[in-house]
Amino acid sequence: MSGRHSKHDLESTRDDDALRDLEKKWTDSPARALRWHKDLDVRGLDCNSAPGYDGDKSDGEELVAAHADELSELQERLFADGRSGGTRSVLLILQGLDTAGKGGIVRHVVGLVDPQGVMHRAFGVPTAEEASHGYLWRIRNALPRPGYIGVFDRSHYEQVLVVRVDGLEPEETWRAHYDEINAFESELAAAGTTIVKVAMFVSKDEQKARLAERLDRPDKYWKYNPGDLKTRARFGDYLDAYQEMLERTSTDVAPWHVVPADKKWFARLAVTELLLGALRALDLGWPPADFDVEEQKTLLAES
Ligand code: AMP
Ligand code: MG
Repeated sequence: MSGRHSKHDLESTRDDDALRDLEKKWTDSPARALRWHKDLDVRGLDCNSAPGYDGDKSDGEELVAAHADELSELQERLFADGRSGGTRSVLLILQGLDTAGKGGIVRHVVGLVDPQGVMHRAFGVPTAEEASHGYLWRIRNALPRPGYIGVFDRSHYEQVLVVRVDGLEPEETWRAHYDEINAFESELAAAGTTIVKVAMFVSKDEQKARLAERLDRPDKYWKYNPGDLKTRARFGDYLDAYQEMLERTSTDVAPWHVVPADKKWFARLAVTELLLGALRALDLGWPPADFDVEEQKTLLAES
């Protein structure tokens, strides 16, 4: 008995040491290292970099795997809190050009937690019904309920990105969205939603390689959209739009994080760590029983 226990303790000490070594590859906290700041111009970003991180691909993948259990447990605590009358939720907003890897984040990072606790939504060209309402209508309808992690693959930010670049609204209209979005997000945060905003940046060369792969592999044709070349032709205009979006909408209640995404493993590590940090900061325990545990044990034993 005691032998088994000490072996177990030894193993978990070894695991803890290994985890600490993996965590130490971050030279700064992920949230701090990745947070947008006013000197960061994404038009000069090295998309192949790994800000704040010293490890390599296998270190990064190991850390994601090592953090999966904690991520999953914290998500369950959030869910339990929501079931017990809590008001908190988390909203992960993913923005990035085609091939930046937004879908990969959903699969590999969000996929680490119980899908029952996730409200995922991808936003495409507005449908006729969506277009008949204000641009925040479909966003409000997709917000996570208390206890849930909401995930937006694209978001209300398209209204200052594609809408600006393609001239879908007059400049004075889309420019007004910055303040509207800030007001909207601060209302959300005040109601209990932790907003985690992630802008993923793929370089123009890497985007070409990823699009080429989609054209080379029959199992990837479905991801290819001839319209992506139109977007690609406006790459520089998109970066201008992204830069101003960061400047105008990175706020204290809902700061932007900039994630270089040419290394898929780094982007996945970065978002895992940002999501984990947001859940840790909620500092949730398990809700207490709202029944008499001993009485229920007795009743169960007698049943
Ligand atoms: P995908 O994410 O590859 O399915 O592509 C979705 C497309 O929908 C992208 O080309 C977006 O730019 C476009 N889209 C998303 N939101 C809007 C919007 N509010 N207005 C116009 N186009 C949008
Ligand atoms: Mg696409």
